[in-house]
Amino acid sequence: MDDNISTLKRFLLHLPSESSFKFTNDVRTDIRRALYRAISNQGQFLDWFFPGSSQDNIEECQWLYTEYLKSRQLKDDKNTNANALASHPNSPCARIFRKGEPIYRCLTCGFDETCAFCHNCFQPDFHANHKVHITICLRENGGVCDCGDPEAWIEEFTCPYASSSDNSNCLANEPPSELAGAVLGTFETLLDFIIDVMSQCYLQFEDIESITKDKIELNTINSTFDPRKYASADDNFQDVNNDQYYIQVYNDQIRHYRDAVQRIHLASQKVKPFAEMITDQIHKQGRAKVISSKNLQLLLERQKILSATGLSSCIRSHRDIFREQVCDEIVKWLGDLSESQVFKINADIKDLFCRAFCDKWESGLLIPSFDPAYSYKVGTLDGSLRIPKIDSKAPTSSVYPQWAFTSSKWDLPDEINNQCSYNKDLGDFTAAAHHGSRLQYLFYLDIRFSKSTRVLLHDIYSTSLITNLHYKNIISAQYVDIYPMVADQFLTLDREPELSVMCTLSTQLFTCPTNSTSIIHHGDIARVLASIYGFLTTEKVQSPETLDLTTEISIKSLKNRRWGQIFFDISYILSRSRDPKSILNSNIIPMACDLLALLQGKPGLKRETENHVEYESPDYTAFFHGIPVIYQFAEFIARSLNGVENERKEWGRRAIKYVMNYLQKMHQERHKGEVSFLHPLHSFLSWLIELSQIEPAALAKILQEYQIDNIFTYPITTLVLMSQIKTGYWVRNGFTVRAQLQLYRTTGLRESGYLRDLYLTQIYISSTDPEPTTMNILSQWQLNDWKTYDNNTLPYMIEECLTFFIHVLTEDLNLSQLSEEALLQKRIEREIIHTLCFGGMNYAKLCSHIPDHIVAEKRFDIILTQLTVFKPPKGENDVGVYYLKDEYLDCVNPYYFNYTTNIKDDAIKFIKERVHQKTGKSIGEVVVPAYASKVKDYKIGNFSVSLCFARFLKKVLEFVDENRESLLETCLHLIHILALENNVDEGKFYERFVEVEDHGSIASLIYELLSKEEFSCQHAKIRAILKVFADRHDLPHELNGQIPQFDTSAIDSDYVDNSEDEFEKKKRIAKDRQARLLAKFKKQQSSFLKNNQMDTSDAEMEDEELQHGWKFPEPHCLLCQNAAENAGPFGLITYVAKSSEFRNVPFDDEYWFLRSFSDGVDLDADEENPTTSSHNQAKTARWEEYMRAVKEKFVIGPGFTSHDDVDSKLVSSSCGHGMHFQCYINFLNTNRSRMSQITRNTPENIDHKEFVCPLCKAINNMFIPILWTTNQRSLSKFLTPLPDSSRNPFHNLSIERVHDKEWYDKFTKLSDADIDAISILNPISREIICSGPTAQFTPQQHQFRQLLSNMFQILSFLTFPQVFKADSIFVLVNTIKSIEICHRGISSDGRLIISQLSNNCLINLRTFNEFRNTSVLMKIKNWIHTPNPRGDAYAKMLANIFALSKGNGAINSSIVEADMFECLVNIIPLPSFGLSFHAILEVTFVAHLIQTLNILAKELSSKKNWKYDMWDIPIVADITTTIAESAHLCFVRLATNENIKTLSEAEKVGRVIYSMTVKAATPFLRRAAIYAYVQCADIDDIDFSLYPETEIEANRLCSFMNIKPISEYLEIFASNTASFESRMFDDFVNYVHLSSKSLTISPLARKLEYPGLVKLVELPDRLDRFFTDYYYSDAYAQPHLRIEDPAICLFCASVVDAQKQARGAREGQCTTHYLKECPHDVGVFLLPKDRTLLLLHKNGGSFYKAPYLDEHGEIADDSRRGKTMYLMKTRYDAFIRSVWLSHNVPNYIVRNLESVLDPGGWETL
Ligand SMILES: [Zn+2]
Ligand SMILES: [Zn+2]
Ligand SMILES: [Zn+2]
Ligand SMILES: [Zn+2]
Ligand SMILES: [Zn+2]
Ligand SMILES: [Zn+2]
Repeated sequence: MDDNISTLKRFLLHLPSESSFKFTNDVRTDIRRALYRAISNQGQFLDWFFPGSSQDNIEECQWLYTEYLKSRQLKDDKNTNANALASHPNSPCARIFRKGEPIYRCLTCGFDETCAFCHNCFQPDFHANHKVHITICLRENGGVCDCGDPEAWIEEFTCPYASSSDNSNCLANEPPSELAGAVLGTFETLLDFIIDVMSQCYLQFEDIESITKDKIELNTINSTFDPRKYASADDNFQDVNNDQYYIQVYNDQIRHYRDAVQRIHLASQKVKPFAEMITDQIHKQGRAKVISSKNLQLLLERQKILSATGLSSCIRSHRDIFREQVCDEIVKWLGDLSESQVFKINADIKDLFCRAFCDKWESGLLIPSFDPAYSYKVGTLDGSLRIPKIDSKAPTSSVYPQWAFTSSKWDLPDEINNQCSYNKDLGDFTAAAHHGSRLQYLFYLDIRFSKSTRVLLHDIYSTSLITNLHYKNIISAQYVDIYPMVADQFLTLDREPELSVMCTLSTQLFTCPTNSTSIIHHGDIARVLASIYGFLTTEKVQSPETLDLTTEISIKSLKNRRWGQIFFDISYILSRSRDPKSILNSNIIPMACDLLALLQGKPGLKRETENHVEYESPDYTAFFHGIPVIYQFAEFIARSLNGVENERKEWGRRAIKYVMNYLQKMHQERHKGEVSFLHPLHSFLSWLIELSQIEPAALAKILQEYQIDNIFTYPITTLVLMSQIKTGYWVRNGFTVRAQLQLYRTTGLRESGYLRDLYLTQIYISSTDPEPTTMNILSQWQLNDWKTYDNNTLPYMIEECLTFFIHVLTEDLNLSQLSEEALLQKRIEREIIHTLCFGGMNYAKLCSHIPDHIVAEKRFDIILTQLTVFKPPKGENDVGVYYLKDEYLDCVNPYYFNYTTNIKDDAIKFIKERVHQKTGKSIGEVVVPAYASKVKDYKIGNFSVSLCFARFLKKVLEFVDENRESLLETCLHLIHILALENNVDEGKFYERFVEVEDHGSIASLIYELLSKEEFSCQHAKIRAILKVFADRHDLPHELNGQIPQFDTSAIDSDYVDNSEDEFEKKKRIAKDRQARLLAKFKKQQSSFLKNNQMDTSDAEMEDEELQHGWKFPEPHCLLCQNAAENAGPFGLITYVAKSSEFRNVPFDDEYWFLRSFSDGVDLDADEENPTTSSHNQAKTARWEEYMRAVKEKFVIGPGFTSHDDVDSKLVSSSCGHGMHFQCYINFLNTNRSRMSQITRNTPENIDHKEFVCPLCKAINNMFIPILWTTNQRSLSKFLTPLPDSSRNPFHNLSIERVHDKEWYDKFTKLSDADIDAISILNPISREIICSGPTAQFTPQQHQFRQLLSNMFQILSFLTFPQVFKADSIFVLVNTIKSIEICHRGISSDGRLIISQLSNNCLINLRTFNEFRNTSVLMKIKNWIHTPNPRGDAYAKMLANIFALSKGNGAINSSIVEADMFECLVNIIPLPSFGLSFHAILEVTFVAHLIQTLNILAKELSSKKNWKYDMWDIPIVADITTTIAESAHLCFVRLATNENIKTLSEAEKVGRVIYSMTVKAATPFLRRAAIYAYVQCADIDDIDFSLYPETEIEANRLCSFMNIKPISEYLEIFASNTASFESRMFDDFVNYVHLSSKSLTISPLARKLEYPGLVKLVELPDRLDRFFTDYYYSDAYAQPHLRIEDPAICLFCASVVDAQKQARGAREGQCTTHYLKECPHDVGVFLLPKDRTLLLLHKNGGSFYKAPYLDEHGEIADDSRRGKTMYLMKTRYDAFIRSVWLSHNVPNYIVRNLESVLDPGGWETL
């Protein structure tokens, strides 16, 4: 043995004792190190596994491949690495589909529907116009990509990752022999080690009562390793335990979490959190150690406590438990290795891997145990640790010849057999047990592994073993050889059946045609079928030799749903086999018959005639749930006839004969009087008949050799049973019969049940003599005499019977001998046409009308697209709707078998209406056309040539009267179809039609109806029938003889009868009335629903109020309804809270800098469809390319991560509702006492005075008094400059003036007057406020003071540590800004921003604004209780004004530091003093422009190494050269950096600068306009048409506010004249150059506010991109390994784990993230796995529908999680605006919490 492998073995042997039996993280690293060293021949070839990494680096990564990858990612470009890992040269891709990823199937290229591509391998261009189907994987392991598997595809294609073009990569070379030796040796050693350990790990499956101290000790002894085999250097070494034992508990899928916690708590006698921790570990990993002790007796007692409720556990020594954990670690390592680059590229290493698995296990255990007494027990190894066979006997031969199985060698290449020492002779197959390969042991011992290791092992099998083209056949053989034993464990022992190895192996191995073919040749179907037969009858798996075919089916087994898996397996084998002949030629059909017979006629039904069934047995569900797989199994066998084209008829004949014979024998044993919906043998027969394609005549001959009447009566009885149940004949049998009927006829079993029976009936009719057959049929209907049914039931039964005959004639799809695919296509087409013909439907509704198994067909969506026109959703709440294309409306058949009677009537009406509209024929004259079957050879209409049928028809015609209109309609339709004599012996029906008996002929009977007024509705139909016969035969002549006054003209179809219209009219009026009532009800319902939803209710209320013009809310108190004026101050409730939509331009961020200036120049244009797109120059090619590349690279986002550029500011929002101050105080107090009684989480924080609006449930925290009358200030007056203002008053303003007493007095006097003048206080308020300071307060004044102190208290709390003053304007300023931001990108419809504001916004803003005005008034009236309020007020006013004065350069530092909009709001216009709003606006706007230019000059001067140029910044269209040059000049003059001055192409630069300036100035102008409108509500005299959209928004606003356009200001700046603006600019330029020399940049320098649309991060167009390109991506170092439940922050695009708690915090990662890492006031996350948004605020949270729709334009609910999801931008934008930017996140959460009685459910958190 070479040293390298010996070292590894010794390591494994000594590890437990050397680690003191403690399995720590260091031990894990030690293991990985040892394994990598071994596989690289002690580090010699380490570079193969960690290319380009040093030993130190690897040590740093703790020998973890994923860590290594991550560290590489930091160096490499992401994409190249991702490509490297996607490559699969010369071998299948085998990438596992993970949950959430797309699975691409091309039905054109694939061998069958299971063949799939991963997103890497799927090349859309290649599959253009193919039938491509995309689903989203719903399981953690949803199979693997089949790209590169030659057996999976029928079309040739090239995958870019499949070619080994990358020859440069040395990893693909043949490994040197030392490396190859090390690799194989390492794998072998590890696998042997794992089996050594797991072979003794079985105690958890033993009966708890049988566990003794001895047994445990024996287990420890048996688990001891042989030091020699493990290459111990020390001859005396003994592999001993430390005398300690653990109890280890195992996961299962039955018991509850709470129960487990309880048990563990009791058994461990430790605290509850410990028990919870252990339970979590069990749940996650599959097992956990609970307690440890030396005292085995104690452990045994504790184990009894644990297992009292069935929890399984075992006691094992520390050493062995330690080794189990080593096994887990090894499997993890193998998993990592199989995902590594060398493994993906190097085919030799992959082969060595498989070889190690397929070779035999070499035991390393010390004691060669031998137990001769062993007999087979599920899940155990025999005495010599060999894999036993079922029954543990050497195979003999079966008692039933059809079940014979003879062992034989598999047909595999000798090279492989020798390499794996398997399948070399018969030894392995004939003995009672055999020494298996490592793989067989791993399969066999699979259920002994812990959950997480099982999953990992199966992933390894999927990706690296089964898909290996060299080894997959031997793997399949090895698996099949132990299949019955593995199946036994799965059926009876596995605690986690969903994790069974079968689910992974079977699908992949058996869908491979070479495997399936060889399994059938080898005869293993007998063993597989015997397993299931044994299980279903005797409740245990059996071998073919021990079967007893006389046993009845066991209900208990049937209810164990797991057995379906085995039928799936068989179906795969049968349907994928390349040699269908051997299926037909072998004993498969006989065995299948035995199996099908088990369910034949089960469950039996007997009609209750006397008693009602009181207790219904639900046992039938076991049959009905089990049967679909059995039907499928039968169908697949029959389908093998498709593969024997030349001998199809011959093989078909043999099969049919066998089954007929079988049925004939069986028939004699049938229970009398019992009926059943299930008779799979008949269905099997029907498929054989259909697929054998034997000509009808020859078929009839074959069938007639048997008791055909007996055999074919069964399906007819079933059809009759169906009708009898429908008409209530079985009513005493309870509901279960109806449920069975439903399954049989309309849902799951329709295709294999009902339609098969109908088909057999058709075959029966066409293969036999009409007279006795029809007699038989009618007697089955019990309609040969009409005595069976009572008078109520009888007409319905007759109509059912007539409909049955219609269906026999018209449901001819299965007779048409189309291929399987064409048949399915037709079936789906008919289904869609008959559902959609009544009008458009959305997808969900459509599907609810069609059986699930039809919808589930992969072709369904493709066919739907062919047949329909799809109208995609447009608005935010729309869904997509499908409309049937007009041409398909002609295919509607009202007697479609899937229609109920009511729908049939609708369809008849629909057809008549349609013909009426097309041709103008009166509705009464329209005849529903008779369906003429195109199937010629089958005489399915031959029942009509029998005498008994003619008599039956006549009886019916005599039976009808005016009350049985529908019966007559159906009868006539049947005659109409028969009249065409399509599938009838020529002329024979006509003979019966005119044949005279007793009362005449059928013909004369229906002719007589023509004279009866009461049947006038049917007259057209009757004439149509007579006309058919008249055209073909000499009917008039015949009738002339029969009827005395026969009138030929009555047959003439032009005959018009008006009375019909009368009848139709009545009918229609009644129906219309009903429809109207229904519509009315629907409307009421929907308006009710609407009113109870948040989104719509606010908007609606607003609309109503808007119509009445704008007002402050009337004092309508929500709480007391008292409108009296003396009820004290009234006010508005609002919510003042921080909000973080305020962003600055991050000049250092490559993406966001460009993004900031990339939105259109008009913020009031619809962002999607700007009517003013001509205002913007087209973007450059490089811009497009850059943005595309960013979108490609960042799956989500990029997020706005520059936290320094995000401001959270206090803003106010209001629901617009009001109350009295006193009521408000009372409400808060009652709230407080109410809250103290409720323990649940409440959304409002009462300590912060938060409360929920009692009316609309919006959250609020402030009360603002409304003291004002209607605002009637004129806006246009406000905006007009003062008449004599040739110069701006700020021009000469100097701070010295303040010291001028005279000037100051004048100022105070004039300002007092102005402030008083703008006040619109109502009289009462004026009294309270303006009465001046008096010692005595009136009660009102007292209350008012209380009110103010309350407000300040709240605001101070919010603004802490700043002090809030009454006349502060920041809430007002922020709220205006926030509202402005929210309205960006919404069209103003040719008006201005002010016309877009909602009433709520205005109420809120105006209340704040008036309050501020009043505060100033209060101050100057000395009302405020401060030492010198008046002086204070003036000082403040003056300070604000002088901040903009030129005098001592105050304006210059203001330009650098101040927010000019804030300055604008801060200065109260004092027109008497010469200070108009216009003047203030002008100076602040000029300052704002200079500020913007200055920031640009500074920020653009440093050259950045970005992927785009300054020229790529999108610009405004049509900039004149003059403007461009002025802009350039301004820019250059401000720039302090020399490079920028030398920039060439001045004009080009100028255009960019101008565009950026305009974009940065537009928000200022919009805000100024809003502020002006808030001040002045009267806009009646404003003519918006003066500001046409031909101008850009900024210019429109300038002209609206009477200031110059931006371009003019720039020209003035550049012109250097004496004008006021020019001087301001010059002064500032000088100031800048001066201060730049002193190199001090003000730390308070203002940043440029973000000028574009403020949004949440961009989301991928398809949701699955998140999973493929990010979550499972190697390029991002596989985030799924760290993040279980991803949540994407929509601000910064970070991904956190929604489930996990953040480190060191009690909250989850989401909460921590939005509060701390990404500081926002609310959290908005997308949860891609749940396809929903998560909203968080303070201590509440709620889900919100994600802006994703499936391809049908619908939100994917839980039932359709497999659909691909597409981003719907309008929904997302609507969410951003109406929820986030409108500050509705808290409201949404509150409303959700309020509406849910039990918080903590799914809707809320
Ligand atoms: Zn692939
Ligand atoms: Zn590929
Ligand atoms: Zn294709
Ligand atoms: Zn009130
Ligand atoms: Zn409200
Ligand atoms: Zn974030």
